Amino acid sequence: MRKPIIAGNWKMNMTPSQTVKLIEEIKPLVAEARCEIVVCPTHTCLFAAKEALKGTDRISLGAQDMFYEERGAFTGEVSCESLLELGVRYVIIGHSERRQYFAESDETVSKKVTKALEKRLIPIVCVGESLTQKQRGVTNETVGLQTRLALFGVGAGNAEDVVIAYEPIWAIGTGMTATSAEANGTIRRIRGVLAEMYNPETSRKVRILYGGSMNAGNAGELLSTSDIDGGLIGGASLKSGDFAQIVGNLS
Ligand code: PEP
Repeated sequence: MRKPIIAGNWKMNMTPSQTVKLIEEIKPLVAEARCEIVVCPTHTCLFAAKEALKGTDRISLGAQDMFYEERGAFTGEVSCESLLELGVRYVIIGHSERRQYFAESDETVSKKVTKALEKRLIPIVCVGESLTQKQRGVTNETVGLQTRLALFGVGAGNAEDVVIAYEPIWAIGTGMTATSAEANGTIRRIRGVLAEMYNPETSRKVRILYGGSMNAGNAGELLSTSDIDGGLIGGASLKSGDFAQIVGNLS
């Protein structure tokens, strides 16, 4: 009942011309895909990506961040309205790299989620524990709190549209992956938190992805679990063949 999503987070990689080339490579490889596919280039590559995606409805466009105000004196920030005009449907919010390097807080994540939903962008909200938090045994508490704070004030009707990405920080870009049992278990706990916040039906509808060194080799096992509804892929999304192979697990 939950349509899986494979989303590529290209991070600060790819110029506009490289973006077009990668999209042209991916397009034929995922022509038969049945899951939702999202690519998230940098803001400066979104226009090129939009043009390259013309003629296909297989791949949607996502952004890597947005600001919660609509316009004004916020140098360097990007509004939802700009993203919508560029054909963006999804927006990653609260990625651990933004939390770590750019002072993204639970409060700004919450404001961005609220604004994205108001503007009908689909937020992909990232939550995940650090290595220390994992070692101290507080993974569930950490991601539970992040989820509660990110969705604070969001009603049940809107919550169904939110996509959550469970991304253990220690697994991002490190080559270390959570086992499928670990990832599925934590995602089930997030679903439990959603059931407490809203109701069991809403919690069953929300799509929750896994992210953290997912690649062509380990995606099959992770994606075959009961509660992992897809992946947010960093490194492996920059290689068309690997990305398509990950997508292929859901076709
Ligand atoms: C990410 O940046 O969201 C991510 C999961 O990266 P990687 O796949 O490279 O670990």
